[in-house]
Amino acid sequence: MKELATTIQVQENAIQGRHCLSTRALKKGATILTGKPYAFGFTKSYAPFICAWSLEKSEGIKYTVRCEHCKHVYYKGEAEKQHHAFWHALECEAFRKLPTLRWNTSYLMLAKVILRAIIRKALENGLSPNKVKRIYGIQLPTPAKTIPHWLQDHQTWSNFHHLVSNEEQYGTLRFRARENMGKKLIALLPDYIVNTAFRTSEEAFLEAALSICKYECNCFGYFTDAGEQIGSGVIPAISFLNHSCDPNADAMYYQLGGEISVEALRPIRKGEEVNISYCETKQAKAKRQAYLKFHYFFTCACPKCQIKKR
Ligand SMILES: [Zn+2]
Ligand SMILES: [Zn+2]
Repeated sequence: MKELATTIQVQENAIQGRHCLSTRALKKGATILTGKPYAFGFTKSYAPFICAWSLEKSEGIKYTVRCEHCKHVYYKGEAEKQHHAFWHALECEAFRKLPTLRWNTSYLMLAKVILRAIIRKALENGLSPNKVKRIYGIQLPTPAKTIPHWLQDHQTWSNFHHLVSNEEQYGTLRFRARENMGKKLIALLPDYIVNTAFRTSEEAFLEAALSICKYECNCFGYFTDAGEQIGSGVIPAISFLNHSCDPNADAMYYQLGGEISVEALRPIRKGEEVNISYCETKQAKAKRQAYLKFHYFFTCACPKCQIKKR
């Protein structure tokens, strides 16, 4: 049993698996939980509207300050670019090689998230800032002032690592495709990062493949107000919430820093399970069930699914 926030308690049993209960009565619209991304990525067409340092969305006008090497990250201004220099140095080389993957937009977004997650693992494993300084001539900025929003949350690779991957459900062919993707991602990263994050190349390939599965089963989409997806992030704190086709909470609000907040869609009782929806709830039952089975490997038994013809 684990407490995620004062409003939520994580429990585990044989029937419901891991699930989250509300620790107190909540009003409609109440914020239940917020989480910053452990790793995130944006589509190439929307990257110019997001500051890679603060994750602040621009109001319709493209940011013009960008990394001239990879051309994948944009900044609100020169100061943000400077703040981000050390962190971006670690990923820039891999981002520059992304076009060689010839992947579609959503897989490229996935690639950025996984590459960033692996880089964070290397940093947690003690990747030496002096090494980065030697290679790129960039010094680790002094903490406090210059640690980005998304690094200030105390999320770790360990939280990401413990997310469900459902890899045994993928089937040989589908999982093999993830293994191939994982190998390609590892090949993009400089050796000094891979060698700090993992002990052997076999471990690196497997962890990269499993990370892709974890991403697919746990990521949150970032959307525009018009509902178009602009990016995605892995936010382990929020991934513990189970699905319902008639959820009592929603987790779709993008805030400064890429933070996702979960809000109550209706009043929630103390001790009630807090659910969000993993699918489009307006779809017919058969479509919802097929979608959930294919992407999340379960047959939904929520109250809405138990009513015939809904
Ligand atoms: Zn770059
Ligand atoms: Zn359902």
